[in-house]
Amino acid sequence: MTLPSTSLSALDLAPSPTGIRTVTRPLRRRVLTVVDVRDISASLVRVVLAGETVDETTLAPFAPVDHVKLFFPDAQGELHLPEVVDDRPAHLDRTRAIFRDYTVRDADPAAGTLTIDFVRHDHGPAGRWAIAARPGDEIGVLGPRGSHVYPDGHARYVLIADETAIPALARWLAAPLADAEVHAVVVVASADDVPELPSPPLGQRRRIQVVGAPQHERAHALAAAVTQLDPAHPDTFWWIAGEAGTIAPLRRTLRDAGVDRGRRDIDGYWRVGVANLDHHVEDDD
Ligand SMILES: Cc1cc2nc3c(=O)[nH]c(=O)nc-3n(C[C@H](O)[C@H](O)[C@H](O)COP(=O)(O)OP(=O)(O)OC[C@H]3O[C@@H](n4cnc5c(N)ncnc54)[C@H](O)[C@@H]3O)c2cc1C
Repeated sequence: MTLPSTSLSALDLAPSPTGIRTVTRPLRRRVLTVVDVRDISASLVRVVLAGETVDETTLAPFAPVDHVKLFFPDAQGELHLPEVVDDRPAHLDRTRAIFRDYTVRDADPAAGTLTIDFVRHDHGPAGRWAIAARPGDEIGVLGPRGSHVYPDGHARYVLIADETAIPALARWLAAPLADAEVHAVVVVASADDVPELPSPPLGQRRRIQVVGAPQHERAHALAAAVTQLDPAHPDTFWWIAGEAGTIAPLRRTLRDAGVDRGRRDIDGYWRVGVANLDHHVEDDD
C-alpha cells in the first residue's frame, strides 16, 4: 500500500548532535516532464522536472544525499516503470526498466519542480539522456526512499566529492552548520567543472579545496588530501562520495584512525567499467 502524501510531513527529519539516523519515506512513483535544461559547469547539466507536486519534506537540510531512482526511456522511447506494491517497487529486477540513482539537488513544492544535476558523459543511458534532454521529454521517478539524516553537533565536517557527488555536496553546503568548520574537497578534471556553490551560513568557517586530477590519479590525490586533514581529529564528521574504487582506500584510512560509523559515510556513486552500480553493495554498513 502506498501511504498518502500527507503522512510525509510527519516524518522526523531533524538531526541529532551525533550519529546518522535513517528515516524511511513512503515510496512514490511518478512521471515528470522536463521543463528546463541548462549547463551549470563544464561537466554538469541541470535538468528541471515538473509534474505531480513534490513532497514538502524532500529538502530536509540535514538529509543532503536524498536521491531518487530515475527511469529512462528505452531505444523505442518507451518508459518502463515498476508498480509500487506494499510500498516496494514490484519485480524491479525482472522489468525492462532502465534506472539509475540521482541526487535531489532541489525541489520546489509550490512550483511542483524537482531539479537534478547530471554529469555529462556518453558512456551510459543516463548520461546520454541528460546530454540530449529537451523540454517536453518524460522521465520516471521513484522515491526518494530512505533519508540519511546526518548529525549537526560536530566541530568539523570534511566533505569529499567528485563530479557525481557535487549535487549532494551542494546540498551539504546549504545545511545550517553555523558554528562548525567545514572543509570540502572537490576532485574534478578541472576547476571549470565546479558550479557555483551555496555560500556559508553566518558563523561557519569554510574552505573549499579543488583538486584537479584525471580519474586514474584521484586515489593518490585524495589519500594525500585526507592525510593533510588529520583523520585522527577527534570531532570530525566525514562524508565521502564518488567513484567507488577511488574512495575505497579512504574507508580503511578512517577506520584505522578510529573514526567509527557514526562519524563517517563513504558511498561509491559509480564504478569505472560497471553499469548501474548498486551503491548499497559498496556501503560501509
Ligand atoms: C546515491 C547516488 C546519487 C547519485 N547522484 C548523482 C547525481 O546527482 N548526478 C550524477 O551525475 N550522478 C549521480 N550518481 C551517479 C550515477 O548514478 C552514475 O554515474 C550512473 O552510473 C550513471 O548512469 P549511466 O547510465 O550514465 O551509466 P551506466 O550505464 O551506469 O554505466 C556505463 C558506463 O559509464 C561509466 N560511468 C558511469 N557514470 C560515469 C560518470 N559520471 N563519468 C564517467 N563514466 C561514468 C561506468 O563506469 C560504465 O562503464 C549518483 C549515484 C548514487 C548511488
